[in-house]
Amino acid sequence: MRAVAVRRGETTPKVIDVPRPTPESGEALVRTLRVGIDGTDHEVVGGTHGGFPDGAEHQILGHEAVGIVENPNGTRFDAGDLVVPTVRRPTEDGNGYFERDEPDMAPDGAYVERGIVGAHGYMADYFTSYERYLVGVPDDFATHGFLTEPVSNSEKAFEHAYASRSAFEWSPESALVLGNGPLGLLTLSMLVGRDDFDRCYCLGRRDRPNPTIEIIERLGATYVDSRETPLPDVPDAHESIDFIYEATGHAPHAFETVHALAPNGVGALLGIPGDESFEVEGGRIHREMVLENKALLGSVNSNVEQYKAARETLSAFPDWFIDELITGVYDPEEVERAFETGDDVIKTVVEFDTV
Ligand code: NDP
Ligand code: ZN
Repeated sequence: MRAVAVRRGETTPKVIDVPRPTPESGEALVRTLRVGIDGTDHEVVGGTHGGFPDGAEHQILGHEAVGIVENPNGTRFDAGDLVVPTVRRPTEDGNGYFERDEPDMAPDGAYVERGIVGAHGYMADYFTSYERYLVGVPDDFATHGFLTEPVSNSEKAFEHAYASRSAFEWSPESALVLGNGPLGLLTLSMLVGRDDFDRCYCLGRRDRPNPTIEIIERLGATYVDSRETPLPDVPDAHESIDFIYEATGHAPHAFETVHALAPNGVGALLGIPGDESFEVEGGRIHREMVLENKALLGSVNSNVEQYKAARETLSAFPDWFIDELITGVYDPEEVERAFETGDDVIKTVVEFDTV
C-alpha cells in the first residue's frame, strides 16, 4: 500500500510502498480517507519535533485522520463505520494515564504519538488501531472529520480554562484568539459558536486582503493586527479580555496575556515556542495575577471524551467555514504540494480515498 513518509536523513515527505498492516486482537483495520496537515507535521518532516519509531528507517506521517472501518476484527465497530483515531499510545509497559483514559496528561516518555514521536502515523492507505483509541463519527464527516483532532485540543483547553474559573460565578463576555493559523481559526469558530461570548477577537499579522481575515470577519469577530496593536495594547485599543487563547507560539504572548486579561480572566497557552529568551516585567505580571485573580494554563493533546465533544462542535460548524478553511486537497503522489505554505494556504489535506 501507499504511505507518505519521511526517510531518515531526509526532510521532504515521499510516497513509499509498505505492507498493509494486519490488525492484532483488539485492533480494527481502517481504510484511510483523509489526513490533515498541521504545523507539527512540518516540524516532524523538518526533524525539529518528534522522532522515528525505534529502529525504523522511515516514519509514516499524519496524526489528523478520518477513515472507514474495513475489518472490525471483533471490535465494537461494524465494517463501513466512519472513525477518527486519537494520537497518543502508551509506551510498552503502559501506565495509569492510559488506564484512566487521560493520555493527554501523561508526561514526556510515558507515551508515543502516532505520526509524531515513536510511532507511525495515519498517512497511508490503511492503518490499524485498538478500538479504545477510535471514536465513531457521523457519515457526513468523511470530508472534514480529520478536523476532530485539532478541535479536540481546544475542547481540552476550554475544559481546563473553565475548570480554573469554576470556584466562583464567572461570566465571561469577551474572548481573544492569538494566531490566525488553522488552530486559531478553528478555535475562533468554536468560541463564536458558544453562547458565552458577546465579543470575539483574533490576532494576526497579515495584510488585507487575506483569506484568514475574511474568515475572521465572516465569523463576526474583530481582526486585530499585532503590527498595529500588539497584545499589551489590546485593553486600550479594544477592551480587557476575559478569555485569551494563545495559538501563535510567539513566546512573549504568554506573559503579555496576563496584562491583556480582565480581572478574573484566564489565558490558555497552546502555541509551542522555541528556546528564545527575553526580558519580562516579572514583578508586575506576578502582582497582576495575584491581585486580579488571573489564571494562566498550558494545554496539550486531548482525550477521547474531548474528541466526542469535538464531534458535536464540528457538526455545528457552518459549511462555508469548513469550505474556506480547507484550501487544498491532494493525492498522496502530490504530497510535496500539500506541504507548501503561502498566504492563501490555510489547511491542506492528503486524500487517500473517498467513501
Ligand atoms: P501556524 O503556525 O499555522 O499558525 C500560527 C499563526 O500565528 C500564523 O498564522 C502566524 O501568522 C501567527 N502569528 C505568529 N506570531 C504572531 C504574532 N506575533 N502576532 C500575530 N500573529 C502571529 O500553527 P497552527 O495554527 O497549526 O498551530 C498554532 C500553534 O499551536 C503552533 O505553535 C502549534 O505548534 C501549536 N499546537 C499546539 C497544540 C496543543 O495541543 N497544545 C496542538 C496543535 C498545535 P503568519 O502566518 O502570518 O506568520
Ligand atoms: Zn494536529
